[in-house]
Amino acid sequence: MTQSLWLDTGYPRDSFPQAQGRIKCDVCIVGGGISGLAAAEQLAAAGKDVVLVERDRILAGTTGNSTGKLTAQHGYVYADLLKKFGKDGARTYFEANEEAVRRGGEMAGEGEARSADSYLFSQTRHGTEKLRREWDAYREIGIQGTFGKETELPFPVQASLSMYDELQIHPLRFGQRLARTAADHGARIYEMSPVRTMDFKKKVVFLATGADVEFKELILATHYPIEGLRGMNILKLAVSRSYISAAPTDRELKDQYISVDSPQRSVRTANIDGKIYMMLAGSSHTAGMKKETDEEYGRLSEDMETLFHLKGITHSWSAQDPQTPDMVPYVGRISDNLPHVYIATGYRKWGLSNSLAAGRILRDLITGRNNPAIELYDPGRSGFGSLLLQGLKLGGLVAGELATGYTVRLDSPTCTHMGCKTRWNEGDRTWDCPCHGSRFREDGSVLEGPATQPLDL
Ligand SMILES: Cc1cc2nc3c(=O)[nH]c(=O)nc-3n(C[C@H](O)[C@H](O)[C@H](O)COP(=O)(O)OP(=O)(O)OC[C@H]3O[C@@H](n4cnc5c(N)ncnc54)[C@H](O)[C@@H]3O)c2cc1C
Repeated sequence: MTQSLWLDTGYPRDSFPQAQGRIKCDVCIVGGGISGLAAAEQLAAAGKDVVLVERDRILAGTTGNSTGKLTAQHGYVYADLLKKFGKDGARTYFEANEEAVRRGGEMAGEGEARSADSYLFSQTRHGTEKLRREWDAYREIGIQGTFGKETELPFPVQASLSMYDELQIHPLRFGQRLARTAADHGARIYEMSPVRTMDFKKKVVFLATGADVEFKELILATHYPIEGLRGMNILKLAVSRSYISAAPTDRELKDQYISVDSPQRSVRTANIDGKIYMMLAGSSHTAGMKKETDEEYGRLSEDMETLFHLKGITHSWSAQDPQTPDMVPYVGRISDNLPHVYIATGYRKWGLSNSLAAGRILRDLITGRNNPAIELYDPGRSGFGSLLLQGLKLGGLVAGELATGYTVRLDSPTCTHMGCKTRWNEGDRTWDCPCHGSRFREDGSVLEGPATQPLDL
């Protein structure tokens, strides 16, 4: 089944109405993934009149297709953050995410989250050296954990590094809790209400339904900033795609794991209403760069059998996430010229805690409160030139395509976002754009990404 385990087992969903007529609000949020919902919850609780518009059903985007680890352990990251942002910056990142995990735990209800330690593990010498560097960084920043060799995994590891008391969530159920909490605070949520165009001067967004929303502040929580913002942020985001498979098992793991070797593998179990699933994720590549995506599912299936002796995969799916060149997401004002427009993106596949942190940053920016993470996550942070260069490198061939004014091929349709050629994804039967990650169904309709118009097939 190519539907995610979460979308298949979410509670019957509360549905929200479609936007009609002219709607006025303090803050309009575009996008009903965890980012948009977290911002809605925080701002509505702070007394703002919030409207959230979602193209489809809430949580059906990347959030509903993630691995569901709500943790401040984001792979091998703190050693690099220390180098790039110093001790204060690295600690600010950790504390913003750890606080998000704590808040998530307080908010979650039965069946929505459970406590688990997070582990990095290595199976090669190179990986073990990385873990040692990460462990040094933990000690310098003051992160609680243990460096060791033992894990409960049924295969040998060379070393492991834990972070205590993190969370595993059911992203659909947890996300619905967030939506209900936001609505209880007065946020108005609309589904099946895609934004088609935006007028930043008049402060109005226009929806495909014919409705429009007049705002004072606008937050684009569309995963990747949507069309209309072809400014500086576009080139700094690379989009990476990964694959996940789940198979029923009778052994529940206590904790959650991710390797630091290549190919990277992420492991957790999920106990959904008494039925336990082993989840294995990995096989990253630049979005839209691979046609034979069936091969990636095949590799996961082999690993599921070799590592866990499990056959009978019931759910396989894939998803993608944008990444900034310096690993810290872009959350905040998009530019000085548009002080009332905010973005939240670039989560590097760690957007569950980062989105909750982003909600708080956006609340604090809009309500004028202090928050040390505001500066760290600022999309306009310094070093733009070198970041841009790194961004181009990250993008690899994508950058080449942009630089040459897009490669023209006859056999695939042109993305309606910025004119790149899409590629056919055989595994998921979608047209994927390698430039900014837009994806289209076989019939050309928009599935995800910054594009808002269907393909001309
Ligand atoms: C394979 C994979 C596994 C991951 N696992 C984890 C994990 O274990 N832990 C973790 O922390 N992170 C994980 N992540 C990252 C995390 O899932 C994402 O960073 C996060 O879900 C992003 O949330 P979002 O709200 O920004 O985007 P989304 O959930 O994609 O929401 C964006 C919403 O905007 C809507 N939208 C788009 N355009 C419009 C428009 N024009 N009008 C109206 N609405 C629009 C979309 O329909 C969508 O619902 C993973 C990512 C991947 C790819």
